[in-house]
Amino acid sequence: MIVAGNWKMFEGPDPTALARRLESIDGVDAIVCPPYVSLARCVDAGLTTYAQNVHWEDEGAFTGEISPCMLLERDVAGSLVGHSERRQYFGETDEDVARRAKSALAAGLNVIACVGETQEQRNAGDTETVLRLQVDAVRVACGPHDRLVLAYEPVWAIGTGLTATPELAEAAHALIKSLLDVPVLYGGSVKPDNAAELMAQPSVDGALVGGASLDVESFAAICQAAAASRS
Ligand code: PEP
Repeated sequence: MIVAGNWKMFEGPDPTALARRLESIDGVDAIVCPPYVSLARCVDAGLTTYAQNVHWEDEGAFTGEISPCMLLERDVAGSLVGHSERRQYFGETDEDVARRAKSALAAGLNVIACVGETQEQRNAGDTETVLRLQVDAVRVACGPHDRLVLAYEPVWAIGTGLTATPELAEAAHALIKSLLDVPVLYGGSVKPDNAAELMAQPSVDGALVGGASLDVESFAAICQAAAASRS
């Protein structure tokens, strides 16, 4: 099981305290995705550390971006790509996401590529079409790579307190896995009190956690639930 904490544009918890707390939990690969300025502190604390995004070029005139080799040289293990906030607020397309994922994997990073439908798309009955398009872009670029993980994050459940039911999550994960056979994390208001039932689903391979990853104890509780779900 994999549990990744996306700190977004927040300072997040003290990396040393978090690393110490996570040491006591076996059976889960815990990952933190802090803002760029905190990557080094998290690596130094011994946390498995991913960036929140990564560019496809090694270097160049791309203000505000960071490259796969820059991350690798600093012992950053991987990166998120295609988070819905990148798609929604910064106009990232399926093609951008696929290019980021492909270069990061080629350079040697691990990748968590995020997919998920908006409320409007779900209401319109377009969930399956949207997921097929998003997953297909990554599949065509990367194939079923052993350092590639997908995260199903229904946009309507991110930061809203709304969570997919375990059955809805399972159905979406099963569809995604039928398109690209890699581990699939669930993301969208995962909290200590709903983590166990979500992670009990057979096609849910872990969680991508936003808000609840900012607190050491709630992130640890979700990691514990993930570990217990497969023990
Ligand atoms: C996320 O940022 O990927 C996320 C799922 O956020 P939250 O857990 O706060 O909904």
